[in-house]
Amino acid sequence: MKKVPGRLNRGLHIWILIAILAAVPAGILLRYPPFIAIFDFLGTLFLNGLRMLIVPIILSSIVAGILNLNDVKGLGKMGVATITYYLTTSILAVITGCVFVFLLQPGLSHSLPAGGLLGLKSHQVAQSVNLSTSSLADLKDIFIRMIPPNIVSAAAKGQMLGLIFFGILFGISGQLIRPEGKRLLGGVVQAVFETTMKMTEIVMYFAPIGIFALVAKVFSQTGLHALRPLGLFFITVIISLSFHFFITLPFILRIFGANPLSHMKNMAPALLTAFSTSSSSATLPVTMECVEKGAGIPNRVTAFVLPLGATVNMDGTALYECVAALFIAQAMGIKIGIIKAIMVAFTAVITSIGVAGIPAASLVAIAVILKIIGLPVEAIGPILAVDRILDMLRTSVNVFSDSCGAVVVSRLEKNG
Ligand code: ASP
Repeated sequence: MKKVPGRLNRGLHIWILIAILAAVPAGILLRYPPFIAIFDFLGTLFLNGLRMLIVPIILSSIVAGILNLNDVKGLGKMGVATITYYLTTSILAVITGCVFVFLLQPGLSHSLPAGGLLGLKSHQVAQSVNLSTSSLADLKDIFIRMIPPNIVSAAAKGQMLGLIFFGILFGISGQLIRPEGKRLLGGVVQAVFETTMKMTEIVMYFAPIGIFALVAKVFSQTGLHALRPLGLFFITVIISLSFHFFITLPFILRIFGANPLSHMKNMAPALLTAFSTSSSSATLPVTMECVEKGAGIPNRVTAFVLPLGATVNMDGTALYECVAALFIAQAMGIKIGIIKAIMVAFTAVITSIGVAGIPAASLVAIAVILKIIGLPVEAIGPILAVDRILDMLRTSVNVFSDSCGAVVVSRLEKNG
C-alpha cells in the first residue's frame, strides 16, 4: 500500500496502548513522591508540547478552511450541518445518561438513598428549586465569552470559543477582500496550518513516554481503592458512555455509509491521547491528523468541524454532568420528576457547549446544575475521588464524537 505522506507513525497507537497498560501498575506500585515528581515532569512536558499548538492550529485551520471554500455560502451550509450534528448527539448522550441513572439507581443502596455512606446529608438540601441569578449568570457568561474584547488575552486564558469566533470572522472577511490579497493570505495561512500539523507529528513521537507519565501519575495519586465507595456511580457512567461510544455514534456513522470499526481504528491515536490527557483541546492536533490522514476527510471540512467540536461538542461531558447531578440528587433522597430531569438534561447540553476542553472542566458545570435543581454545590465532593479516571473516558467520547461529526459533515457535503 502506498504510504500516505506525513501519516502518523502507524505503530504509534500500539506504543501508546502499551504505555497506558504499563502505567496503571507502575502508578499503583510507585506511589512515592520522587516517582510522582518524575511522572509529573514528563507528563507536563508532553502536555505542554500539545498545548502550545492549540492556538495556532485553531486559528490557522479555521481561517485556511474558510479561505479555501469557493464561497461563503458553503460555510453557512457546513455550519448548519455541523451544529445540527453536535446538538443531536449531545441530546442523545444526555438521554442515554438519564435512562441509565433511572435504570441502575446508582444513588440508592438497598433501595434507600446512599447519601449517608458518601458523607452527604439531606439537611444540606436547599428547600426549593432555586433558579438563582448566579446560575443564570454562569450560563450568560458562556455567551459573553464568545466575543472576546481582547483576542490575545482570550488565547492566553484558553477561551477557545472566542478564538473560534475571531477565526470565523477573519476568514469570512478574508474571502471578501481583493482576489490577490485573498490568494496571498490563503497561501500563508495554509502553510502555517501545515507547519503546525508537522509539529504535531513531531510532538507525538514522544507520546508513549508522555502518556505513560500522565496515566501513571493519575493512578499513583488515586489508586484503585478510591473507586470502591462509588462503584455503582462509576459503573453507570461507564455503561452510559460505552452505549454512546459503541452503539449510538457507530449507528450514526452507519446511517451515513461509513464503517464504524475502521473509523475507530483510524482514530486510535487520538482516542488514546484523549484518554491520557483528559483534554479534548490538547488532543485537537492529533484528532485533526487522524481524521485527515487516517480517515481521509478533506481539510476543508476538518478545519471547520474539529476545532469547533473540540470546544462546543462534548457528548461525554454532557452525559457525565447529567449522570453526576442525578446521582447526587438520588443519593440525597431528592425526587427528580420529569420536569427537573429535563432541566438537568437541558443545562447539561448548554453547559457542555461552554465547558473548556481541559481536565476536570465538567466539575464547574455540575456545580451549576446542582444550583439550578436546588442542591448544595458541596454535594459534588464525593465524586471528586473518581472524577479523574472518568474524565479520561468522557474525553475520549468527546473526541470520538467530534471525529464522527467530521465524517458525517463530509458525507453531507459530497451528497449535497
Ligand atoms: N476533560 C473534558 C474534555 O476536555 C472536559 C470535561 O468533561 O471535564 O473534553
